Amino acid sequence: MTIQFYNTLTNKAEEFTPVNDDCVRMYSCGPTVYDFAHIGNFRSFLFSDVIRRTLEFFGHKVHHVMNITDVGHMTDDSSADGAGEDKMAAAAQRVKEDKKSGKVPEGAVENPEDPYQIADYYTKAFLEDAQTLGVKVAFEPENILKATDNIDIMQEMISQLISKGHAYVGPDGVVYYSVESFPDYGKLSGNTLENLQMGAGGRINETDQSNKRHPADFMLWKADSTHIMKWDSPWGAGYPGWHIECSCMARNRLGKDVIDIHTGGEDLIFPHHECEIAQSRGATGADTFAKFWMHARFLLVEGEKMSKSKGSFWTVRDVLEGRATGINVHPAVLRLELIKSHYRSNMNFTRKGLVDSANIVKRLTEFRTKLEAAANGEVAEVDLSHPILKEFGAALADDLNFSKALAVVLPWASSDPDNVAEALAVLNKINDVLAVAPLGDEKSGGGDDSEIVALCKAIDAARAAKDWATSDALRKQIESAGYEVKNSPEGTIAIKKLA
Ligand code: AMP
Ligand code: ZN
Repeated sequence: MTIQFYNTLTNKAEEFTPVNDDCVRMYSCGPTVYDFAHIGNFRSFLFSDVIRRTLEFFGHKVHHVMNITDVGHMTDDSSADGAGEDKMAAAAQRVKEDKKSGKVPEGAVENPEDPYQIADYYTKAFLEDAQTLGVKVAFEPENILKATDNIDIMQEMISQLISKGHAYVGPDGVVYYSVESFPDYGKLSGNTLENLQMGAGGRINETDQSNKRHPADFMLWKADSTHIMKWDSPWGAGYPGWHIECSCMARNRLGKDVIDIHTGGEDLIFPHHECEIAQSRGATGADTFAKFWMHARFLLVEGEKMSKSKGSFWTVRDVLEGRATGINVHPAVLRLELIKSHYRSNMNFTRKGLVDSANIVKRLTEFRTKLEAAANGEVAEVDLSHPILKEFGAALADDLNFSKALAVVLPWASSDPDNVAEALAVLNKINDVLAVAPLGDEKSGGGDDSEIVALCKAIDAARAAKDWATSDALRKQIESAGYEVKNSPEGTIAIKKLA
C-alpha cells in the first residue's frame, strides 16, 4: 500500500517512501520548558506520535527524535529576528509567583532564579505527561535532546556557516544568518525575500535593523554577558538562537543525510522551520534537509488558539483531573480526543468531544475484554491483508485519516467475530497505532498498567454488587501503587499521580 502524506514543502499530498529502506528518520520540534505543555502542544506531539506509529504499522523501523528547548526561544519569535526577552528568563519571575500561589509545589523549583531548575521541573512534567498520553519517544531518553546539552554542536555549525559565507558578525556583535546567501529562503512558507520585502504580515521586526545586512537576517548567536544562561564562544559569552538548535539536534542524532520527516505545529512553518532549512542546507550544501515537512493545525478553545504565552490554557493534568470540563477522564480518552480529528484542520476542544472519545474508548476496551475472555489466552497471527486491517491501513495511508479509520474499527468492535483469537490480534495491531484500548499496556509502549485496569474493573463490579468494603480495599490498593482513583463516564479509572 502506498502511504500518502501532505507535504508543506510542496503543498500537496505525496507518496511517502523512506530515504533509506532500513529506517525512517524523523525529527519533531519539542516543547519550550518554561511552563507546562498544554493540550494544544500535545495535539502536535501526538500528531508526530501517530505518524511514527502509522509507519511502524506498515512495517517501517522509525528513529524519532524530539528536542527540549531550554534556552534561546525569545518572546517575539514570530518575527524572524527573534526579538524580545528569552522565554526562560521571563519564566523566572512567573515561577516565583506560581510558588507563592502553590501552582508550583513547595520544593519543586528551589531557586526560581536558576533557569536550569525551572527547565528541569517542566522537562520532567512534560515527559510524564507525554508518557501518560503514550507518546513513544518520551520513553526513549536517548532520543530526547536538550538544547543546553548541545551548545558545542551549535557553535560548530555557526562557525561552518560563517566560513561558507552564510553568516556574519554584525556591528552589534550578534552572529546573523544572511538570508540573501540562501536563494531558497521562503520556499517552505512562501515568505520569500521578495514577499517579505513587501511587508507580508509585519514579519520583519523594524527595530535595530542597522546591524543587519537584510532585515530578515536572523540571530544565530548573541553575545550577552548578562544573560542568565551563557556559554563562552568565539563571538563572546552568550547564547544561541532558537532556530540553530533544531538544525543541530536533528544532525546530532539523525546524521548529516537527508531526514525523512520533520514535524511541528503550524506556527513553526515560519520563521522556525524556514530558518532551520536555511541553516541545515547552508551548512551541508545539500539540496534537501527534510523530505517531508508535516504540520498540525492548532487546537482552539472557543475559536481561539490555545497559547502558552497568553497564559490561559489547559494542561494534560487539568483535563484528566476534571478541571477543564468537569469530568475526569482516563488518559486514553484525552489521547483519542487529540488524535481523532484530521491534523490539517483546526480542532475545537469541547466537553462534548471528550465525552464522545470516552464512549469510543469504552467501546474498544469492552470489545478487548470480551475477546480476551473468549480467546482464553490465545492470540492468532495476522498480517495486513486481514480485511479490517486493510481498510484501517488504507485510511491511515490516506494522510492519516483517523475518522475514516475509526469508522472502520467501531462497527467491527460491535460485532461478534467467529475467530476471537484472530480478532484479538487484529485489535492489538489497531491499538498499536491508536494506543487507547487500554492505553499504557506494553503494546502501546506505555508500561504495563493492565493490573491497574483490572483492579478498576473489579471496583466497578464490587460497586454494582454494593460491596463497599471490597471496593474501598481495591481503591486503597490502587492508590498505594501511586494512582489516583476517579469516577468517569467509562467507569472507575486510575490516573498515575504526577510529581
Ligand atoms: P512550544 O512549547 O511553544 O515551543 O510549542 C511546542 C509545539 O506545540 C510546537 O510544535 C507548536 O507549534 C505546537 N503548538 C503550540 N500551540 C498549539 C496549539 N494551540 N495547537 C496545536 N499545536 C500547538
Ligand atoms: Zn524546532
